[in-house]
Amino acid sequence: QPITTDMETLSREVKKFATDKKLEIEMLQIREEYRREFLGNVSHELKTPLFTVQGYLSTLIDGAMEDKNIRKKYLKRAEKGVERLIYIVEDLDMITKLEAGDLNLEYSEFDVVELIQNVFDLLEMKAEKRHIKLSFENANIQPNFVQGDKDRIQQVIENLIVNSIKYGKENGLTEVAVVNLTKKKILIRISDNGEGIEKQNIPRLFERFYRVDKSGSRTEGGSGLGLAIVKHIIEAHKEKIYVESEYGIGSEFSFTLEKASRKKIAKV
Ligand code: ADP
Repeated sequence: QPITTDMETLSREVKKFATDKKLEIEMLQIREEYRREFLGNVSHELKTPLFTVQGYLSTLIDGAMEDKNIRKKYLKRAEKGVERLIYIVEDLDMITKLEAGDLNLEYSEFDVVELIQNVFDLLEMKAEKRHIKLSFENANIQPNFVQGDKDRIQQVIENLIVNSIKYGKENGLTEVAVVNLTKKKILIRISDNGEGIEKQNIPRLFERFYRVDKSGSRTEGGSGLGLAIVKHIIEAHKEKIYVESEYGIGSEFSFTLEKASRKKIAKV
């Protein structure tokens, strides 16, 4: 076969190679910047609880240990700090896997109403602490079987309800609804009548470590990764997530799930 080495083709090839290289270098630079920023965020997140734990332990060693009541109180607070560190590290582990595409979803068909009820049981105490009522509205889709990775979907629902409790109004209401969307899809909606989110902050909510109120939510004990994890899990399922919020009125997060196929339900 003849080799066409006319000047035009050659110069096009050279140019393409140059842009490819340039693109590659740019990609590497972006990745490096991303890595640096990530590490910066991680150490920042870990510092607060670490200093808390160190503070209580030092005070105990410096003499507070003598008083039985104080000893118990401070040890409990140090324990809370360690708990917080564990949450953060678990979230970091999850987000790293999700971002690397390393998390293999284990699909099954499960009853989503039952799953939501389980999450309510888990979070009842947390809600009670803020006098928030958890209410569940089931559109009576029969049966309520959906397809997905049950544990990961539970995590999504948990993260969204935890947020509605954290950022909800004291004595307020968290409502979860299962809505029959189309023949194949259902929608799960979690809404609160809490502080809401200002319009300009909504597009950034799902970014890692993004927080609207930098000081306030930190004391609530989140990692700033909750919504980033939620988004990744939903996208890995090829489903959609929506947020609507009005500042001072409340927020609503919703996501779609695929219904279980009829044939398979018959086997259940
Ligand atoms: P974290 O709660 O740990 O800060 P998330 O990723 O779960 O991190 O949420 C990011 C931010 O989005 C929160 O810090 C908060 O400012 C805002 N947010 C999330 N859910 C709600 C909600 N239901 N109402 C108001 N603001 C919310």
